[in-house]
Amino acid sequence: MAPFSILTRFALIFVLLIGYFTNPVQAEDEDELMATGELIIQYKLKHPEPQEQEIEFIDNFTRKYNLQEGLKSGLFTKARRKHAKARKLRKLTKMKLRSQLALLKLDKKLSKREVKKLIRKLNAAHYNDRDYEIEAVYPNLLYEISSETNDPLQINQWSHDLLNPEATWEITKGEGITVAVIDTGVDHQHQDLVANIWSNEDEIAANGIDDDGNGYVDDIRGWDFVATTGLSCFPGEDCGRADNNPTDFDGHGTHVAGIIGATQNNEIGISGIAPEVKIMPLRAGFSTGSSAFLKTSDILDSIAYAINNDADVINMSFAGGGLGVLHDIIKLADSLDIVMVAAAGNNSTSSKMYPAAFPEVISVGAIADNLTKMSFSNYGDWVDMVAPGSWVFSTVPNNKYDYQSGTSMAAPLVAGVAALIKAKNKVNPISADEVKERLFASSQETKFRRYRDHGETVEGLSAAIEFPLEVDDILMPNTTVIGEEVEISAAISDPAVVDYEWTSDIDGFLGSDQTVVVDDLSEGSHVISVRAQALDGKWSEPVFRVMNVSPSKQLNPANFDDINFKIARRGRSLRANLGGRKNRKKIQAYRWVSNIDGVISERRKLRVAGLSSGYHKISLVLQDQAGNWSEARQKVIKL
Ligand code: CA
Repeated sequence: MAPFSILTRFALIFVLLIGYFTNPVQAEDEDELMATGELIIQYKLKHPEPQEQEIEFIDNFTRKYNLQEGLKSGLFTKARRKHAKARKLRKLTKMKLRSQLALLKLDKKLSKREVKKLIRKLNAAHYNDRDYEIEAVYPNLLYEISSETNDPLQINQWSHDLLNPEATWEITKGEGITVAVIDTGVDHQHQDLVANIWSNEDEIAANGIDDDGNGYVDDIRGWDFVATTGLSCFPGEDCGRADNNPTDFDGHGTHVAGIIGATQNNEIGISGIAPEVKIMPLRAGFSTGSSAFLKTSDILDSIAYAINNDADVINMSFAGGGLGVLHDIIKLADSLDIVMVAAAGNNSTSSKMYPAAFPEVISVGAIADNLTKMSFSNYGDWVDMVAPGSWVFSTVPNNKYDYQSGTSMAAPLVAGVAALIKAKNKVNPISADEVKERLFASSQETKFRRYRDHGETVEGLSAAIEFPLEVDDILMPNTTVIGEEVEISAAISDPAVVDYEWTSDIDGFLGSDQTVVVDDLSEGSHVISVRAQALDGKWSEPVFRVMNVSPSKQLNPANFDDINFKIARRGRSLRANLGGRKNRKKIQAYRWVSNIDGVISERRKLRVAGLSSGYHKISLVLQDQAGNWSEARQKVIKL
């Protein structure tokens, strides 16, 4: 089945066009929004063994409809086959999108009306041959950055005063997390950014070779996707061709990057919300003088790059139409638990703007320092959160700093906090949905005037996230023998723990330090648990792990290597897979343990209905007839 029905496709294009006619876009930009003069062609293979090359199919299509030759094809899937992540992406793309993309140029500069008509005609034609078929044709639309120009009047970083990230910084500053900034580029040499620019460890600089096989040569710090081919480009901008230097000629992307991750304590400038994250600069936007724009095709390539190169969070401070082809790749990134944040846009409208309004993306509106909506900010129930969006102080190119306003500035504040949440949960990663839940749960109610006469409230960002105290993991061996000394330790990222409580379900209390050493555990399969107490006296939820204590000098323990368990009945039950009757006879006992709920069963199979909701790390251990306990086999399930 195609990702979008013909009807939906038209609906999307319709919404998109309506959007352009109703949103207050400057007249000089309006033609440009439609007229990149390019089309995105979404096509797919009909069966697994084509006789022709993809390129022939696109060539034939191009000739038939008097389009110009393909600028490039295979967006999303540039990477070489050997690149493991590229293989993963290609597989996912094939599975979830079931389609390829190509970019074609229109034969001549057509009016908006003519482009619309042509797209309608191409979608209706459903061009196909024996091997391939066209699924959808989209205009390669421009998205506009969501910042307002203004003059510096204020002299404080009020956004930080409001958000108060200091308490959170005691726990994490975002280390180990990468935020991709899809924007007008980033001045990666800025004194307050240079230490936090993502670096592609698998690429060797300036050797002219795509060392890591990700499809981009010498991409040591992201990529510059911009090649505007004929669009009006501000003098001094880099609009020629795509290259490996994603620096910023506009200033917008550098400002956004500083809000997320400007370095701290270097005695200069400012601090980002997550001052130890890595920023992955993906340049898809260019300045036209009055504003800056991003092409859909460059946004698609940027998101694919962010997926391929393991970004954890993506910031998108731009807004425009709701193209289905953009939604497809956003759904893909979401399924990989990448958190996406976008500006709601600055059109003072409740009409949905994209990518913010896609349900997978956190849509961010802007508030002023009195916590009311900025007049320019878009609003409506599709806006998930608000954050400071006026007079936000941050980095601009050439080691300078400046104030900018817009939902463009509000989104990266949220992206920065999302990075902090991701960093806090680096040991036991949480899903994109859980990151969103924690963001919303920690936010405070804020006045957000949707209409002139009655205020409505929405959730306002608070960076002072109250992380509940959590033990990340228990570090210990899975098996031991009676009398052997073992060290059991709690991995925990919160610094402020006043007490620990260790227990075994067989032997009871074990100790109250972060690390305990025991040598007198009884024989059996122990469920070891620990909880930690915070300064305020509250105890964390306990975490459970299995440790098997076997009788010493027991010879020939049964081999259970070929036994595992499976999640059966569509996630409703768990069942040990014995692989034959002889294994069954070897087993004296089963023990199932969840890290959240402790021992959940001692039978061969169990139903999961009574367990807590959330992500469980489930362990199964088996005991042989001689009393030896096996290593734990583990799987993570979501309930
Ligand atoms: Ca490369």
